[in-house]
Amino acid sequence: MFDAIVIGSGFAGSVTARMLADRGKKVLIIEKRAHIGGNMFESNDHTGISVHWYGPHIFHTNLKNVFEYLKQFSDWFSYEHRVLGKIDGQLVPIPFNFTSLEKLYPQKMADEIKQKLQAYYPGQEKVSVLDLMCCKDDIISKFGEFVYSKVFVNYTAKQWGVPPEKVDKSVINRVPVVLGYDDRYFQDKYQAMPCNGFTRIFENMLDHPNITVQLSCDAAKRLEMDIENSRIYFDRKLWEKPIIYTGAIDELMGYEFGMLPYRSLDFVFEQHKVTSYQSAAVVNYPNEEDFTRITEFKYLTRQEAQGKTTILKEFPVPYDVKAEKGNIPYYPIINEDNLALYKKYKTCTDKFGNLYLCGRLAEYKYYNMDAVIDRALQLAESIGS
Ligand SMILES: Cc1cc2nc3c(=O)[nH]c(=O)nc-3n(C[C@H](O)[C@H](O)[C@H](O)COP(=O)(O)OP(=O)(O)OC[C@H]3O[C@@H](n4cnc5c(N)ncnc54)[C@H](O)[C@@H]3O)c2cc1C
Repeated sequence: MFDAIVIGSGFAGSVTARMLADRGKKVLIIEKRAHIGGNMFESNDHTGISVHWYGPHIFHTNLKNVFEYLKQFSDWFSYEHRVLGKIDGQLVPIPFNFTSLEKLYPQKMADEIKQKLQAYYPGQEKVSVLDLMCCKDDIISKFGEFVYSKVFVNYTAKQWGVPPEKVDKSVINRVPVVLGYDDRYFQDKYQAMPCNGFTRIFENMLDHPNITVQLSCDAAKRLEMDIENSRIYFDRKLWEKPIIYTGAIDELMGYEFGMLPYRSLDFVFEQHKVTSYQSAAVVNYPNEEDFTRITEFKYLTRQEAQGKTTILKEFPVPYDVKAEKGNIPYYPIINEDNLALYKKYKTCTDKFGNLYLCGRLAEYKYYNMDAVIDRALQLAESIGS
């Protein structure tokens, strides 16, 4: 009766399902959680404040097609994300910019560093802290070391559980030093948040006569992968139509080659009887505290509520599927060994002609939501008409 099965209802699964449904395909979505939306899930907590249960999510993209696609399912308000970091007891803009520099250095020194930076990197808007540290100019390299030690070293060690030199350089380069006063966290062309929250987008996307959603249903219990013959059985019957899988690739293959490593997070929500808790949507705590950042959701949602607010503290923890805390795989740990292990799984799954992998878990990749939506749009186009 169904033309395709989609495992997972995050953006990867929901966008693919909707695209196929719009082409007349009858799609079954299987979701192991009790809600749709994957890690984008948002709803009110017990005090009536809307929160992102899997960490703060901000939409930003340079992909016009992705934003246009999403506009079908929600109205959006313009939102530019700003982050502060607590450094030496002061709150300064992150990414580190000229305002941060002026706040943390004596004026004369700050002026000298700014002039040097502008002379050394003319017309450049940002530069990696790793490049600054390698600069031949002594003043610039010392400045780079300062930023690295105050903003990156402890934060990275907390976030990843290893010293920064063991972390892939792309992770450090994700937050460059800004050579100016632009204090926005993202510079993308389209920056916005959904007027009625992220979950409403998924409700609208999946509200289609060709889509059936089954919640609280683990695909692992209904799928059998016959690796030898590259065949998939669903509910014990051979399934030869497309199956789009957005869960973890190692789980799908029964952990045949071992588990792919991830970093996880322990989320601690706090309700406070104040209208506003902090002066920015997110405040980073790179150094003294055990948590990495505090998010105050009202900034992200524009919700107005007098005398109450909800904040989220994020404590990075090792991923352990059986543990009480840290049992959700959030960030793939990208290094040569882990990518080689992923490739082993991928070589295996590639043999199944009707299996399509999409999303952060299936592709073992850090995807922002815009990139995963773009990928799902392209994938759906490529699945036989
Ligand atoms: C803390 C954090 C903050 C982030 N912030 C941002 C941000 O600000 N902006 C941004 O653009 N991106 C952000 N991201 C990235 C964003 O979360 C992802 O791009 C997006 O959620 C990926 O969607 P997905 O569908 O691939 O995965 P998911 O949303 O994880 O969806 C996968 C779904 O599959 C289900 N599933 C898995 N296995 C099975 C199974 N066996 N049976 C049935 N169902 C199954 C899961 O329950 C889940 O619902 C952030 C990520 C993290 C971790």
